[in-house]
Amino acid sequence: RPFAELSDVAMHYGGAEGTLALEGVTMNVDHGELVAVVGPSGCGKSTLMRLMSGLWLPTDGGVIIDGKEVDRPLSIVGMAFQNPTMLPWRTILENVMLPLEVVAEHKHRLRSHRAHYEARARELLALVGLAGFEHKLPHQLSGGMQQRASLCRALIHDPKLLMLDEPFGALDIFTREDLWAVLQELWLARRPTVMLVTHDLREAVYLADRIVVLSARPGRVIAERRVPFVRPRR
Ligand code: ADP
Ligand code: ADP
Repeated sequence: RPFAELSDVAMHYGGAEGTLALEGVTMNVDHGELVAVVGPSGCGKSTLMRLMSGLWLPTDGGVIIDGKEVDRPLSIVGMAFQNPTMLPWRTILENVMLPLEVVAEHKHRLRSHRAHYEARARELLALVGLAGFEHKLPHQLSGGMQQRASLCRALIHDPKLLMLDEPFGALDIFTREDLWAVLQELWLARRPTVMLVTHDLREAVYLADRIVVLSARPGRVIAERRVPFVRPRR
């Protein structure tokens, strides 16, 4: 059975005018698959991520993740966005550990296993090339470095599902390509299922197993392509 199953999903945002953001989205995602989602601005890519994370419930259709109908925000999800948004008064290490304090079930474990999680945070930071920066504040790091840290933050609770919404969109091309390799390594190490929203087709081709193309709003799946297996790429 697939890891994620979306059947005829629609999302209509309420409000005065209301917006039909997604319509008739049916797709499966396998365990450990990395799917890139591309499509024009405003076509519902972020909406799709929110629905698959349980942050919003679809107005129609169903979302099943890991065999269960999604009816609330999922604790098995890690997220990173275009803007890393670190808490400015906390060190990088403390920012990376933040998800553990927010999700109830991790909070409990954090109390008795702080040393374990701190070691994991340091290990992740080292993997993305940030060893030695653990006790810096976010503003002391460049945008690219903060983006690396935000990947660590997304992975600290070892999520089964990783949601990346244009994580490298704000970065220059060199930093971006550098982070492709970092992401690929992190992904290969534990094989979370990954949904990656991007506007960069090269990025999609480089990283993804499969590319899903959404139409202009309301977003519908208009094409799906498997990407030829060319790993290891590094
Ligand atoms: P994308 O990520 O592809 O740019 P979004 O999922 O952010 O698209 O948005 C899809 C559509 O839904 C857009 O028209 C957007 O304005 C609208 N939208 C997104 N979030 C909300 C919201 N919380 N309330 C109302 N409309 C929204
Ligand atoms: P992206 O992920 O593509 O950067 P955003 O999620 O920031 O896009 O927003 C995409 C569109 O959805 C924008 O036009 C924004 O104005 C609209 N939008 C996002 N959140 C809301 C919201 N809570 N209410 C109304 N519109 C929203």
